[in-house]
Amino acid sequence: MSHIYQPVMIKVLLENGGVAHKKTIAQSILSYDFSQVEYYEGITNNMVGRILRKNEIAKKDKNIYTLNDYESLSSGEVQELIALCDLKISDYISKRGNQIWEHRRRNRKAVSGSIRYEVLKRADGRCELCGISKEEKALEVDHIVPKNNGGEDSIDNYQALCYTCNANKRDTDETDFRDLDVKYDERKSDCIFCNTTRNIVAENELALAFFDKYPVTPKHVLIIPKRHCADYFELSQPEINAINRLTHSLKEKLTSEDHNITGFNIGFNVGEDAGQTVFHCHMHLIPRRLKDVENPVGGVRNVVAGKGDYKQY
Ligand code: AMP
Ligand code: ZN
Repeated sequence: MSHIYQPVMIKVLLENGGVAHKKTIAQSILSYDFSQVEYYEGITNNMVGRILRKNEIAKKDKNIYTLNDYESLSSGEVQELIALCDLKISDYISKRGNQIWEHRRRNRKAVSGSIRYEVLKRADGRCELCGISKEEKALEVDHIVPKNNGGEDSIDNYQALCYTCNANKRDTDETDFRDLDVKYDERKSDCIFCNTTRNIVAENELALAFFDKYPVTPKHVLIIPKRHCADYFELSQPEINAINRLTHSLKEKLTSEDHNITGFNIGFNVGEDAGQTVFHCHMHLIPRRLKDVENPVGGVRNVVAGKGDYKQY
C-alpha cells in the first residue's frame, strides 16, 4: 500500500454502516490532505488576505488575522454580517455555478492524455519548480507562458508542476500580482544575441541555440534564453529546463553528425572578471575530440592557465 487512501476509504465505509457516497469518501481523504490546506493558506495570504489588509478590513500578525474593530460590533451585528457574507457566497455560486472552481480541476486545460504522459515523463515524475515527487503531490500540466499571454499549446510550452507551485504561480498571474511574472518576451534592441536569427540550430519555447561565430572547436554551440537577461543567475527555472532540454538534444544531434566528438565542455561565463563578453546569458557547448589539445586534463579548470591538472599540485 503506497498511500492512506485505502485505510481512509475502508474507515469511512465502516463508520457509515458499510455504505458511502464517493463524495463522502473524497471529503474524508481531503481532511487528511495538508497540501490542500497549504494551497488555501497561499490563497489566504497572497490574495484575499492581502486585499483585506490593503482595504483595512483585517490585519495580520505572524499567521493570525484579526478583523479590524471587531470588538465594537454587537452580537446582533456579527450575526447580520455573517448572514450578509452567506448571501454574497450563495449569490456568487448561483451566478457562476461550478465555474468558480474550474481553475482547480485537474484536466481543466484539456491537455491530451498522451501529451500529459510525455510532460510528466520528461519531468521524471517531479514538479519542475520545487522537485516534489508525484507520489507526494498531484502533478498538473502547466502552460509556462500563459495562453492569454500568447503561449502555445505545444509540449515546449508545458511543464509539470505540483498543484501548490501551480496555484502559487497562477495566483501571481492574476491582476495585482502580474508584476511578479517573468517577462518572457523581453528583448533588447541593441543586443546581438536578442537579434540572432542566423545559424539557429535548435530552439524551443524559451531557448535557442546557434553556432558560435568564433568557435573554440568545430560545432561550438551557444545556447541562450530567448528573453534578454544578463547571466545564468537571472534565469528562471523554466528557462533552465528549456536550456537543459536543448543541451540534451544537441548532444544527440552533434554526436550523430560527427562521430569524432567524444566529449563536451559545458559552461557559463558570469561577469567580466570571469571572462564574459556578451551580456545576454549564454551557455557554451563545446564539442571535444580525441587529442584536440595535447593535454585536456582539467577541462574547464583551465580557465585559469596552469590550474587544469590538480594532481600536479
Ligand atoms: P562570452 O565570452 O562567454 O561572453 O562568450 C561570447 C561568445 O559569443 C564568444 O564565444 C564569441 O565567439 C561569441 N560571439 C560573439 N559575437 C557573436 C555573433 N555575432 N554570433 C555568434 N557568436 C558570437
Ligand atoms: Zn539580449
